[in-house]
Amino acid sequence: MNKDKNYYKILEISEDADKRAIKKAYRELARKFHPDINPGNKLYEEKFKEIGEAYSVLVDEKKRTQYDLLRGAIKSKPNAEQVKKQASKAYSEPKPKKEKPEKNFEGIFSNFAGKFAKNFAGTESKKGDDITTDVHISASEAHNGTVRNVNILRTEKCPKCRGKRIINHVSCDKCNATGEISTHKQLNVKIPPKVKENSRIKISGEGNRGVNGGANGDLYLLIHIIKSSFFTYEGLHVHCEIPITPSEAALGGEIQIPSIDGFINMKIPPETRSGQRFKLAREGLPDTNSGKRGDQVITVRVEIPPNLTEKEKELYLELARVRNFNPREHIIFDK
Ligand SMILES: [Zn+2]
Repeated sequence: MNKDKNYYKILEISEDADKRAIKKAYRELARKFHPDINPGNKLYEEKFKEIGEAYSVLVDEKKRTQYDLLRGAIKSKPNAEQVKKQASKAYSEPKPKKEKPEKNFEGIFSNFAGKFAKNFAGTESKKGDDITTDVHISASEAHNGTVRNVNILRTEKCPKCRGKRIINHVSCDKCNATGEISTHKQLNVKIPPKVKENSRIKISGEGNRGVNGGANGDLYLLIHIIKSSFFTYEGLHVHCEIPITPSEAALGGEIQIPSIDGFINMKIPPETRSGQRFKLAREGLPDTNSGKRGDQVITVRVEIPPNLTEKEKELYLELARVRNFNPREHIIFDK
């Protein structure tokens, strides 16, 4: 219902038109502007919708009263003149002859008018729209579950008129007589354990407000697990790749590596191969329920320093001379 539209004008009737006149006007106009008769004409389509809207409000006494109230057009009491006129009208006008059934129009009427009347009726209860909001969580939170404060914009019942659209016969200025307002809402939401990337978590009833007593829509949390450039996660286990120097690989040593808790020490055994994997037990993600932790799995990669100096080259040659090592001698090249 839109109080800024003049439904009487749209239906080309006077403000005191009775139900029969409203119906008659509607039928004539609906036929004239029907989309089936004027296919592809956007203007006519709009007009047809507008006629349907006007009709659905004016033909319903309750809604018509409310509409009149909203427009501030209603008189506190109909004056005597009006009453008399109406009475005489009712008396003098014979019941209209039953209009010939117009098959074509009846069909149109039930298909379109019914639909539009429903759309604009305003009394049909309708579930509010759902809202989806993105939530970014860490891998640990994805495993263990977490709580988050999410900010959403949703429609709620107008607090001033309590959804009634009018206060003391005056249209509510807070909600422009719509009965609802759009408002930012902060919600504390619970994210269950073991959610996956793109999981959708439903929070019932926290979506947009239902219409005419309809249920509220639902809120959906669309889960995004924050990706690390360094770690990959596999359940509670954490994987990463660590570069080591040729001498660390050959002689072994203790190096510092990043873990999910910060830097930790790790022993590289002598004669470590590039690509070798090591497991650091219980350095993975914690399971808050059992208290257990996953492991950190480290793949080492031997990295040759770039821009070798003459001295370094000399030493590598020296190494090659002392040890005649052929790492390919045991490879069997079968196809
Ligand atoms: Zn209000």
